[in-house]
Amino acid sequence: MARSHNFSAGPTAVPLEVLNQAYDEFHDFAGTGMSIMEMSHRSPIFRAIAEQTEADLRELLEVPAHYRVLFVQGGASLQFAQVPMNLAGENGSVDYLHTGLWSGKAIEAARQYCEVRVVASAQGTGFDRVPAVQDWQLNPKAAYLHYTENETVHGVQFAEPPASEAPLVCDACSSLLSKPIDIARHGLVYAAAQKNMGVAGLTVVIMDPALLDRCHGFTPDILNYACISDAQSMLNTPATFPWYLTGLTLQWIKRSGGLQVLHQRNQTKASLLYETLDGSDGFYRNPVQPTYRSINNVPFRLADQALEAAFLREAEAAGLHGLKGHASVGGIRASLYNAISVEAVAALCEFMGAFARRYG
Ligand SMILES: *Cc1c(COP(=O)(O)O)cnc(C)c1O
Repeated sequence: MARSHNFSAGPTAVPLEVLNQAYDEFHDFAGTGMSIMEMSHRSPIFRAIAEQTEADLRELLEVPAHYRVLFVQGGASLQFAQVPMNLAGENGSVDYLHTGLWSGKAIEAARQYCEVRVVASAQGTGFDRVPAVQDWQLNPKAAYLHYTENETVHGVQFAEPPASEAPLVCDACSSLLSKPIDIARHGLVYAAAQKNMGVAGLTVVIMDPALLDRCHGFTPDILNYACISDAQSMLNTPATFPWYLTGLTLQWIKRSGGLQVLHQRNQTKASLLYETLDGSDGFYRNPVQPTYRSINNVPFRLADQALEAAFLREAEAAGLHGLKGHASVGGIRASLYNAISVEAVAALCEFMGAFARRYG
């Protein structure tokens, strides 16, 4: 079986062990003669899977016991709207940090529901950093402060969660489960599964129940966190197969040694690549300030941008896939999520060295 090295920003590689287990159980789950996809979400078997998935997520992320964990659909993008719909409060004003394309989208979505204050933006420097804390214009009375832990397109990552008096809301779509995170510092954390913990179709929302009081009447029940929580994420049919696949992925993370071990491996992968970029005598360039460089997504350009098409073509031919940068910024991007091995990154770095020698 030929498996490619897959550096796609998402959906992306799923651990082979997870694929194999899903394959083995595909036609006949645990002697039922049915696939998980063919079963009622209210069956005892699926309920057990749902509960185990939540328990494993809580254990891995050390979620405070009283926090709620919701499993919803609509992707992280629906959260861009669902967060302000539920949490802005009446005549509320909300704070957002603008650090790249995804926080920009979150800001645009929130503007449809409430007054949005952009407390700091790195747009002026081309999204190469998190703006310095002393320049943030925080509103202590804001309904919440939203930040994007890892900017998947620009490759900018927070060194630590922002300090905030207002409840902290985090888009952790591309970094959740790639390293430990202090959930207790947050009012709400959300992430879609298709980056580090499964496949498209499932989004995880972890929230402080103190915020549930704000989820008031005009939000439709199906988007209302309080209603979703009361119904244990089964107001309607949930995404059963993606939920199951996230369950398998969480078990794989536990077998791999948990988040400390994965974090170390992810740091090793990122260091390999940044060293290759920084040691290329300017042939390759990552524009992000070192403190804020992402361990999950590494965008870069070639000094001679006319060579980028050849780079991508030759990388494909060498079995290195998904390296084209996001359309809004162009260039190259390597995403180094949990399922990407150190060997895959080493193969990429070796290819980059050989390419630079050939064309440099
Ligand atoms: C991928 C991504 C999103 C969008 O996720 P969808 O599930 O496609 O809506 C939002 N925020 C960040 C940081 C992402 O990486």
